[in-house]
This record gives sequence, C-alpha cells and structure tokens, in this order.
Amino acid sequence: MKRTWDVIIVGGGIMGCAAAYYAARAGLSVLLFERDTPGSAQSGRNLGFVRQQGRDLRELPLAIGAAQLWQEIERDLGRKLGWAQCGYLALAMSEKELERQEAWRKEALSHGLDTRILSATDVRSHLPDLAPDVGVKGAMFTVSDGQAEPNRATRAYFDVALEQGAEAVLGHRVARIETAAGRANGVWSNGKFYGASTIICTAGAGSARLLRPLGILLPQEIIRATVARTEPLSAAFPCCVSCPMTGMRQARDGAMILSVAGGEYDVRLNSLRFAGWYRKARQENPNASRINFLAPFRRILSHGAPPPIADISPSSDCVPPEPKRIHQAYDEFAKFFPALAGIEITASWAGYIDTLPDMVPALGEVQKVPGLIVATGFSGHGFGLGPMVGNLLTRLVKNEAPGVDVGPLSPERFSPK
Ligand SMILES: Cc1cc2nc3c(=O)[nH]c(=O)nc-3n(C[C@H](O)[C@H](O)[C@H](O)COP(=O)(O)OP(=O)(O)OC[C@H]3O[C@@H](n4cnc5c(N)ncnc54)[C@H](O)[C@@H]3O)c2cc1C
Repeated sequence: MKRTWDVIIVGGGIMGCAAAYYAARAGLSVLLFERDTPGSAQSGRNLGFVRQQGRDLRELPLAIGAAQLWQEIERDLGRKLGWAQCGYLALAMSEKELERQEAWRKEALSHGLDTRILSATDVRSHLPDLAPDVGVKGAMFTVSDGQAEPNRATRAYFDVALEQGAEAVLGHRVARIETAAGRANGVWSNGKFYGASTIICTAGAGSARLLRPLGILLPQEIIRATVARTEPLSAAFPCCVSCPMTGMRQARDGAMILSVAGGEYDVRLNSLRFAGWYRKARQENPNASRINFLAPFRRILSHGAPPPIADISPSSDCVPPEPKRIHQAYDEFAKFFPALAGIEITASWAGYIDTLPDMVPALGEVQKVPGLIVATGFSGHGFGLGPMVGNLLTRLVKNEAPGVDVGPLSPERFSPK
C-alpha cells in the first residue's frame, strides 16, 4: 500500500461508504477504515425509511437532496437496493398532533416539498386495512419519500467504491487522528501511521472518542433500538407508516419491518458525563428512550453475541434486541392493521443509534483543525441522508461549495468557545 492518500475515511457506515464511492468516482485516492465490516453498525441495521417529512429544518435541505439522489442510486451503482418511492405517512392521533403537522408542512413549503395533510377519510383511502376504531384524526403524507434496504445499500456503496479504486482496511479500529502543525495529516491504526491530505470522521458512535483529543467536544450518547421482521405478508402494504410508537414498512419480499421509535438508554460507567446536555431533550420528549439501569449487569451476565441473521453484518458491539420492543411493535401493527396480523416474527436485531442533544448531525469542516471533516451524530435519522452526505463530503474534500448550508450543523457547536 502507498503511504499517503487524498482522503482517509474513518468508519464504514453509509456515510463513510457513500463518501468513499463519490470520492473515488471523482478520481481521489481513498482509504477507508472500518473496525468490523461495512454496514455492521447502525447503517446496516436500521428501519430503512428514506424520509424528508418531519425533519428538523436545519437538515431538511440535505433530506431533499438525498431524495433526489436515491432516485438514481440503483442505476449509478448497478445494484438493487430495495429502493421504492412509496411515500411516507405519519398518523395523527389528536387534533393537536394534526396542528403540529400542519405547522411543519407550512414551514417546509418554502423548500418546495410535496407534503400534504390528509383527513381521516383520506387516510383510509391510502391505508384500506387500517382498523376503523383506532381514533386516527388525519395524517401527514409525502409522496416523494420512500424506503431502501439498509445493509444492501451500505454494502453496495462500499463494494462499488472498491471497484472504483478505493482501498479499505477492515477489522482494524483507528486509534487516533494525527495532526502536524495544527492540521490533520493521518491516522494511527494497529500501530501504523497512514497519511492523507484530508481525514473524514464518519465513525458513528465512535466519533466523539476520536475527536475529543483534538479539542472537539461532541456530547454523543447511544440508544439501543430494536427492529423486527415478519414472514412475508400476502397483501401489499402501500407505504412507510408511522403509528404512534412504531414505524413500519413492507420489504420487496413482502415481509413487514417494524421498529418502535426510540429505544433503551443502557446506563454505562460514564453516563453522567453528558447528562446535563440531554436534560432539555428528555423534558421535550420523555418517551424517546427508557433508561435501563440494569444494563451493566446484563453486560456482565451476557454470553456473547445474539444469534446471527443472514443479511445483517455482525458487529463487535454484540447489541441485543429488546424483547419488550418487539412485542410493542407487533402489538401496535396488529392493533392498527388487524386484517394483516397473525403473521410470525422471523428475525429481530438491534443497533446503537448515536445521538447529539439537539438531534441534528455534526457535519462539516472543523475550523480549528484544517484537513479534518466530520459527519456524525445523525440521531436516528441518517440512513436516508447517506447519499447526500457522501456527495457533500466529497465536495468539501475537493474544496467545492457544499451546495447546502451546513453552518447550523457545525461539528464545533458544542465545543467551548
Ligand atoms: C434501529 C434503528 C432504526 C433506524 N431507522 C432509521 C430510518 O428508518 N431512517 C433513517 O434515515 N435512519 C434510521 N436510523 C439511523 C441510521 O441508521 C443512522 O443515522 C445512520 O446509519 C448513521 O450512519 P453512520 O455512517 O454515521 O454510522 P454507522 O452506521 O454507525 O457507521 C459508523 C461505522 O464506524 C465504525 N467505527 C467506529 N469507530 C471506529 C474506529 N475507531 N475505527 C474504525 N471504524 C470505526 C463502526 O464500526 C461503524 O461501522 C436508525 C438507526 C437504528 C439503530
């Protein structure tokens, strides 16, 4: 291997793999590090919604750009990724929720989005199997939203990046990002130095630890979120749907993919470190996560990894699905769509969501460390943004304008001034 590259990417999730693909396609020399295998963390384990609807306005332009890219990705990569522009419908169970949806729709209008508010009657025409007596007041619906298969999409970006000339070191963790004269100039892994003009940190939940020695504070936390897959349904389920607690979609083979929003906050030794940063987030959204005080005991008592699932890359995190969440998701599916229920859960898995206190990512160049670019902290909704973020990172490496304003997402926004 040669000793310096145009760009070194730390982390082979969808952000890192998409960046590797777009950078290699642009003719840059690329080296990607992944401590396990590509897509083994959140990017290969998520629910697979690709949505613009309901996004924080700071990241909405990214989501809109991504929705356009998703239309071309299967053709670009020459791979089937389960992409379907099926629309996304979020049910409203109260007039207040409907008002919140309408307020968001109005704000998003200036971005040219096709989001609509549906009456309860319209919802039924979109979801003919919806139970009549569950109290739905209406819904927000965006027809240009869709879904894709997470592991397949991440792996495809990685595989095609290699075909375009990118190189990769798998199974080795980057221990440190190096600087010389204040500028990022390489990484250390397995006792070796690898040099590059630009370092991109897309290490998901591993990012804060890599950035802290460089003076960049990211109050990053992790939430364990669970997904369940059913046997194939014989009926068609028309679009991605959010019920009050559960997101659901139908994969190409007919299986339903279900996941309760939020998850478990597994208490760790350093849990107090960032508690203050999350006080406001917890007050505003008390149901987003359940604090699991027994986690340290579970870790001691558990015996290794959950059983393998063919299309989910194993992770050294050995993250177990939460049985309670599987039941909660299935029960809500059965309550809202009783005519479709009675199918078996065939697989379940979990992933660690990396979050930041304001629930939007840290994305962009680090001003105090030239040569370092960060894309992390996607707070449970980064999969759909992946193509746009990979594309944008490449533009930043090439010193081109990013195309969208990422100023409000600065990776230094939490660091002491
Ligand atoms: C259950 C669940 C459901 C979700 N549902 C959705 C959804 O429907 N739609 C959506 O848009 N988003 C969803 N998300 C969120 C989405 O999966 C993430 O925001 C996105 O995948 C983040 O991608 P990433 O590349 O930043 O991180 P990751 O996928 O976590 O990748 C980071 C990679 O870096 C590697 N790494 C870490 N440290 C190091 C190191 N020191 N050296 C080398 N490698 C390292 C890790 O092994 C990992 O592979 C969900 C997440 C989960 C867990």
